Amino acid sequence: MSTAIVAQQRPVERILSHLQGVRRTGEGRWVARCPAHNDEHPSLSVREAPDGKVLLRCWAGCDTAAVLAALGLRWSDLFPDGKRRPRTARECNAASEEAVVRFVASRFDEACREAYERLAVICCAVGHVFAVYGLDITEAEAAWVRELPHMEYVLDRLMAEDPEERLARLEEARQWLI
Ligand SMILES: [Zn+2]
Repeated sequence: MSTAIVAQQRPVERILSHLQGVRRTGEGRWVARCPAHNDEHPSLSVREAPDGKVLLRCWAGCDTAAVLAALGLRWSDLFPDGKRRPRTARECNAASEEAVVRFVASRFDEACREAYERLAVICCAVGHVFAVYGLDITEAEAAWVRELPHMEYVLDRLMAEDPEERLARLEEARQWLI
């Protein structure tokens, strides 16, 4: 009997039972302290999608893989039981593809954030060097420097919440990245 109840546990219940400082913020939404960093104020958002899947996001920047590792859970724990034990090879492939896409997306976000921070430092440092030393540079180098703020703009857009918008911005970014 108890085995049957465990098997029917919703993924969100499983995740929430491992978290601390859980607070419900709305229908299918919670916040909790992120286990992957020293989180004083709850910065991990937990959402239950209509199909039962759980979406995790740490607003301090931890990626979902790190959050799961800190909880001792796996990617499959975010998915409903039906998807955790797929009956067909096709379902199995779909579930693992989705996990890979989510993993790649979180790595991508992390890389963008890091690049954005470094770029801000570079822009600031380059401006300072020119202001102080008035260095001689070639026309090509000057053009590259002038484009730095565009890169900042592109990276800013790449961090959009909406994945569709992110893809569109990536397309737009090609002219600067190639
Ligand atoms: Zn975190």
